[in-house]
Amino acid sequence: MKVDYHVHLEEGPYSIRWWNRTAQALLSFREPSADFHTMEWMHRLSEWMSERVRKGPFSPEWLDLYRQRAKQLGLREVGIVDHLYRFREYKSYYEQYVRVDDSELGRLQRVWLDQVCMASLEEFHSFIRQQQAVWEQDGIRLKLGIEADYFAGGEAQLKGILQQYEWDYVIGSVHFVDGWGFDNPETEQRFAETNLLALYRREFELVEGAIRSRLFDFLAHLDNLKVFGYRPDETELLSDYERIAQTLREHDTATEINTGLQYRYPVKEACPSPTFLKILQQHDVPITTSSDAHFPDHLAMHLEEARERLKEAGYTKIVTFDRRKRLEVPLE
Ligand SMILES: [Zn+2]
Ligand SMILES: [Zn+2]
Repeated sequence: MKVDYHVHLEEGPYSIRWWNRTAQALLSFREPSADFHTMEWMHRLSEWMSERVRKGPFSPEWLDLYRQRAKQLGLREVGIVDHLYRFREYKSYYEQYVRVDDSELGRLQRVWLDQVCMASLEEFHSFIRQQQAVWEQDGIRLKLGIEADYFAGGEAQLKGILQQYEWDYVIGSVHFVDGWGFDNPETEQRFAETNLLALYRREFELVEGAIRSRLFDFLAHLDNLKVFGYRPDETELLSDYERIAQTLREHDTATEINTGLQYRYPVKEACPSPTFLKILQQHDVPITTSSDAHFPDHLAMHLEEARERLKEAGYTKIVTFDRRKRLEVPLE
């Protein structure tokens, strides 16, 4: 069954790059017109963009682009999981664990958080639930999840946050190592100044903490730290891979094959790496398929290839979620 369980409707910062990328997504759903690159065309594009910015991501017009694409690709289930840090209701959770102090990193991350944390969780949640019936008419199940950040010591607080709404599933992510949001290109230099093996060990320790917390239905992009291509010799990481796989199994927690880094970041490799994937399969860790799309034209990106990789690794089933119950479906 073809599913994409990790899809975002929007993410700031609202830069010129964001504007360009959004315009590109809108254009990719329209037939090329003969007046391409004329002033008339530019007027139309400006109107589409103005409408997109005004109505925001939680609008039927924007979500319909994802639905159109899902239909074209034959997807049976699509899970929307905007980042918890986008929602004003939980800004203080992030302010406690992300470094937003007076250091250089802190100031940069403060600006980032203020730019991206601007949406309403209430609005997101009710919008997706309302739209499920529309998708159902196309034979596609629209699932509602959330991608929440794990912080060591923040477990009780996050538990309270996650209980406030009902979800089809909750994804646990580690995007921050001791307060540093390592996938932010503006902070890439820190990789060059850090002992990579120690950094990876720390990241895996946090991933293990996230699994042990039992707060999450699946753990996202297990080796996300490779994002900019800074990685130790993989043979040094095999024992960490084994431990993560064992911990996932022991805590009956799933993970994903996530193609986001393959098409959006310098490392150009999906998570987990082929070696890591094989180890997960050997431990019989349940897995689902994810594109980590942030725009409708990226939905299910590289998922055919990911499904092949799962088969090669020995998987015959993937998992899906409904109201926090995990289900198994054939990979085929
Ligand atoms: Zn993520
Ligand atoms: Zn994501």
